[in-house]
Amino acid sequence: MSVSADPHARAFWQQVQEGRIAYSRCCADHCGAPQFPPKARCDVCDGDRLEMRLAAGTGTIFSITVVHRPPSDALRKHAPYGIALVDLDEGFRMMAHADSDLAIGARVRVGFVLFGDRVVPRFVVDQNP
Ligand SMILES: [Zn+2]
Repeated sequence: MSVSADPHARAFWQQVQEGRIAYSRCCADHCGAPQFPPKARCDVCDGDRLEMRLAAGTGTIFSITVVHRPPSDALRKHAPYGIALVDLDEGFRMMAHADSDLAIGARVRVGFVLFGDRVVPRFVVDQNP
């Protein structure tokens, strides 16, 4: 994800710099859908009352791939690295860095690492499931 003019994306990355995962939750009656990344309108009911929440940072690996050829020379020192889709316990799915040897279904917990010139979320095995 690149730096964006989208205020919700900026808010998400600001939280990441402080070691937190932000998402949106719809405040409409009978909805309550969690959404990621944070956004202004609900994907489920199209409501516009959403609140920013912070996830606990725990979840389950839905899928994972290993990147052997990074998109730039500057990132070559990080390879190989894992990129996973993680189902967070709050009910949304996000893509993030992860240990490359994680299995689908593994319980994970987020950490934060420097990747290139920015801090990114990175999931590892949850030692306290
Ligand atoms: Zn909704």
